[in-house]
Amino acid sequence: MFCRNCGNEFTNPDAIICPRCETRTGEGNNNCQACGAYIDPSVEICPCCGVKLVTKGAKSKVAVGLAAIFLGSFGVHCFMLGYKKKGAIFLTAFLVNLIIGYGIATILLVITLGLSFVLPTLITLVFAVWGVVDAIMIFTGKVNKDAQGRFLK
Ligand SMILES: [Zn+2]
Ligand SMILES: [Zn+2]
Repeated sequence: MFCRNCGNEFTNPDAIICPRCETRTGEGNNNCQACGAYIDPSVEICPCCGVKLVTKGAKSKVAVGLAAIFLGSFGVHCFMLGYKKKGAIFLTAFLVNLIIGYGIATILLVITLGLSFVLPTLITLVFAVWGVVDAIMIFTGKVNKDAQGRFLK
């Protein structure tokens, strides 16, 4: 085992921080955990020894993808990946739509015979579809990192 941050070799496999750089084991993206080689932080597989680079705290692709499909309209998958601004856009749109969109729709219901529900439903649909598009990008590997640069596992 080598430090992912400085490449120091651990003499004790149970170490929870690197004795040299004091980074928690598994955190960092400079070195391979299996051979210690200095690697490009953007690669997913170590070019020296071929192992998949593991970063502690990495989120599961399946969990984030499913959240994007089923809870996409709320932006849950954005928060899981650490994209707080994008998540805030989803959540704000959902809440504004819920309060104002459906509020107005309810008031207008009597006059328009329910047609006013189309607009808020469309807005919800747009964000739900956006979530599914994000899920496809996650499952196909187009999005493979979180906001901190950790690869999804
Ligand atoms: Zn270190
Ligand atoms: Zn390696």
